[in-house]
Amino acid sequence: MAFQRPKGTADILPAQAKKWQKLEAAAAEVFAQNNIEEIRTPMFEAYEVFSRSSGETSDVVSKEMYDFYDKGERHISLRPEGTAGVVRAYIENKLFAPEVPKPVKLWYKGPMFRYERPQAGRMRQFNQIGLEILGSASPLVDAESIYLAIKFYKKLGFKNLKVAINSLGDKESRDAYRTALLDYLAPFKDDLSEDSKRRLDVNPLRILDSKDKKDKEITANAPQVLDYLNETSKEHFNKVLAIFDELDVEYVVDQSMVRGLDYYCHTIFEIMTTVEAYGGNELTICAGGRYDGLAELLGGEQTPGFGFAMGCERVLALIPDDEDDKQIDYFVLNVGDGTEIPSQVLVEKLRAKGYNVERDYLGRKLKGQFKAADKANAKFNIFVGSEELADESVKLRNNETKEESVVKIAELVK
Ligand code: ATP
Ligand code: MG
Repeated sequence: MAFQRPKGTADILPAQAKKWQKLEAAAAEVFAQNNIEEIRTPMFEAYEVFSRSSGETSDVVSKEMYDFYDKGERHISLRPEGTAGVVRAYIENKLFAPEVPKPVKLWYKGPMFRYERPQAGRMRQFNQIGLEILGSASPLVDAESIYLAIKFYKKLGFKNLKVAINSLGDKESRDAYRTALLDYLAPFKDDLSEDSKRRLDVNPLRILDSKDKKDKEITANAPQVLDYLNETSKEHFNKVLAIFDELDVEYVVDQSMVRGLDYYCHTIFEIMTTVEAYGGNELTICAGGRYDGLAELLGGEQTPGFGFAMGCERVLALIPDDEDDKQIDYFVLNVGDGTEIPSQVLVEKLRAKGYNVERDYLGRKLKGQFKAADKANAKFNIFVGSEELADESVKLRNNETKEESVVKIAELVK
């Protein structure tokens, strides 16, 4: 029996891989232009890096982690997201040191792993491209990061973007809101979903994020977070919105949006779009926010931070497939005794000159080689035959004009 790939994973075949390369190149370009540098952290970390940062009871940690004990009895988890690892690396590598210019602007890309029920747009191994800006509490950073994500999607040609933004405020505001929310939810306690009942004790704000229908009905009339922001938190949020207004960014303030993780504060946002491939449903393609308390949760000094992650698979589903118009420079055909090795030497000489060269590897008859050359879509065919070889020459055919000529090998590779 032939093997199958694990549930929730994908093989990215060459035609698709080209799209991935374009997406990654576009991201690298936007980041470079904005003076943001790449960081690469391990694909697995100590389990606690995620359980501390996301919270033991978050969906990601309680249900979706790919965790295991390694041969040294260490509790390890494949990373479900990128932020915790980047912040861990920031602390461990002392990027907080005064000689490192602040804020530290980092981006990453790579696979993330979550044990989820696979469905359209939801996989067990998926990829994110993310940004993290550490060391500044300024709302300028919030606005600039979100603006960068919008610029990126515009560059990819996306229309129908919806930018939803909200603020959770600082700790004081968040605590005041939490109390108000708990008071509101108390009479509905028994009607909440099992998940949300648990969330009541640990992080009631997450109930607003619930996908359960009954939960959604209950929370429809819940108190609104922006009413609980203190003055500093209001000022922070208003600055972000003022920048967006000046830059003509279209956004909606969505108070029902809270991010799933405990560490968020102040500005949080999501960018959504509708995807035909997923039945025209609204899909979140980018999400993030401010996380001023995260570094402390991971044992570092208090460090303000802002970040986002975009789901690459969902973004790629929005980019049309290209037609395959790949062309190569030369296809080398060889016929007759003693032509195989000289033809390979010619192939390598041309490659050394920077040309894209293909040949036959299957010992095909001339007719078969012709077919292969056709498929390869070469600008020129080169025939290496015993007769011409004796004269250190080959036959060259311009596949566009169909002109043929005999040329010296030395001439050809010059
Ligand atoms: P959701 O509410 O859809 O489960 P989330 O809150 O778990 O999303 P984040 O942790 O914020 O998602 O991840 C950021 C982005 O990564 C998402 O907006 C989405 O585009 C993508 N993403 C998250 N989980 C998956 C997955 N299992 N498969 C594919 N992409 C994913
Ligand atoms: Mg999720």
